[in-house]
Amino acid sequence: MEATLTIIKPDSVAAGNAGNIIAHLEREGFKVTAVKKLTLSQAQARAFYEVHKERPFYDSLVEFMTSGPSMPVALERDNAVKHLRAVMGATNPAEADQGTIRSLYATSIEANAIHGSDSAENAQIELGFFFSRAELLAGRG
Ligand code: ATP
Ligand code: MG
Repeated sequence: MEATLTIIKPDSVAAGNAGNIIAHLEREGFKVTAVKKLTLSQAQARAFYEVHKERPFYDSLVEFMTSGPSMPVALERDNAVKHLRAVMGATNPAEADQGTIRSLYATSIEANAIHGSDSAENAQIELGFFFSRAELLAGRG
């Protein structure tokens, strides 16, 4: 089993799609080990997406991610990181394969429904950003 992190982004939570997205992930074989609902502060959003701080879209991305509640979800599955990226679809929903979460729920390249960790190493860092070890252990099957 491998762990990864998704964030159901503010656009999806506001649109009432969080439940459908979690159901989609469960149908894909992911187990939810922990979940929270929170509105990211500016400092938290800046830190989470720090790797993009030189990008032209960074300030707008931070505004979007702090615009309302989002839901970090800790997930487990075989090959979880790669499988989540496949199920998510491309960053730009116009380029996302049919049936992917972004093709179903994203409305723009920025408001693109969910986040997914891009490597096993980053998944561990990102899980630790939102969840304690105790919380992750408590939710394991
Ligand atoms: P995420 O990291 O959220 O899973 P990703 O790995 O598919 O998404 P990244 O390149 O890491 O894509 O970009 C992080 C986020 O920044 C995107 O999900 C999107 O919300 C936003 N973003 C990326 N590119 C653009 C862009 N050209 N214009 C506006 N927003 C963008
Ligand atoms: Mg990314």
